[in-house]
Amino acid sequence: MKKLGKYSMGLGDRFGHQGHAQLRAIIEAGIHGIEITPVWNKSNREHIIIGTQPQDVRSEADTVTGNAGFKKPYFVDADHINIDTVGRFIDCSDFFTIDVASYIGKRAGEDKIQKFLASAGKLSEGLHIEGIKKSVKCTKAQLRDIADKYIFAAEKAGEIYRMIEAKKGQRNFITEVSMDEVAQPQSPVELLFILFMLGAEKIPVQTIAPKFTGRFNKGVDYVGEPDRFAAEFEEDLMVIAYAVQAFGLPDNLKISIHSGSDKFALYPEINSIIKKHDKGIHLKTAGTTWLEELIGLAEAGGEALDFAKEIYIKALGKIEELCVPYADVIDIDVSSLPSSDEVLVWNSRKFAASLRHDESNPDYNPDMRQLIHVAYKLAAQKTNEYFSLLEEHKQVVSECVFENIYQRHILRLFGKEYKNAFLA
Ligand SMILES: [Zn+2]
Repeated sequence: MKKLGKYSMGLGDRFGHQGHAQLRAIIEAGIHGIEITPVWNKSNREHIIIGTQPQDVRSEADTVTGNAGFKKPYFVDADHINIDTVGRFIDCSDFFTIDVASYIGKRAGEDKIQKFLASAGKLSEGLHIEGIKKSVKCTKAQLRDIADKYIFAAEKAGEIYRMIEAKKGQRNFITEVSMDEVAQPQSPVELLFILFMLGAEKIPVQTIAPKFTGRFNKGVDYVGEPDRFAAEFEEDLMVIAYAVQAFGLPDNLKISIHSGSDKFALYPEINSIIKKHDKGIHLKTAGTTWLEELIGLAEAGGEALDFAKEIYIKALGKIEELCVPYADVIDIDVSSLPSSDEVLVWNSRKFAASLRHDESNPDYNPDMRQLIHVAYKLAAQKTNEYFSLLEEHKQVVSECVFENIYQRHILRLFGKEYKNAFLA
């Protein structure tokens, strides 16, 4: 079976121009002793909005790794696929994120539910899991709720997995199961039973993306209580370690954090917890690279700055339309968005500082950043102009992309002694 390394990062590159800069950040990390497997991911939703094909992501990944002489493993992730969308990803992907969010809450047949209750019932009476102080348990009614909510989704995951396996062969791809794009988070107890179900479906899941408590908005920091997240995350790790042994799941099974970019309030917690328990992590960062492209263009000034302003001003007129597909993962306070008249007179520094995620900078505006995060569709409508600007200002843009991934993400999430350095 193809195996994903301990630390891995999902690198989204909506327009396919920054693979080199992204890979440079991974290579730089390796030089500093942090081994990270790069995974280029793109969802069906993004392909449709931009008008690209899954094969484009494969070509980019192969080209940039080939050019850099990168000999370590890398993967191409068919992100958030389901039974209707997986087809065109099969040939060119070797990582599949099976998204069961839309199946959660649909009830499986009563025979399946009874079978689950009979086999999992004992576990719910109280389990001692190493690393968790209280015994892990739930009532009969709670177990029934879990069955009603998740068995159908697990069956669907099995169906999709087997469809991929039949075409690709069991050993040739990595399987992730995601359930992050739902309203309610999953508790560690729910995670335990979900893993039980995935084990029963014989899905060799290597990464699992639960929904955590708190808000994981796109491109901005975590909103919630980092302490609570840390406690839940640590329990999830312990539950996973137990499930690997008890349910016959792959021994490298780890958590995947979706909308994981920019969660700077959580990185010190995650960094110390994964090191404390010697566990891996997969972090998906999709759309931040597009934001860095726009920051780079703003810094370049002239026509490139005008283009960035134009995107923002157009986005202001289409807030609702742009936000609908991302409703669960953004929170924009419209009253905090600068008006088009204000932005029109901004210089490069002011525009870039408003967009760049640096909380120490008083110009940083997370509402504007979220709006532009979902506004990539507008650049997709003007790719001739956009791509020629990216080409012209390659240097500055790729520096922004590199610095964002390496300095703000990799070093904070995986770097040594980062927690102490950060607090000091
Ligand atoms: Zn996701």
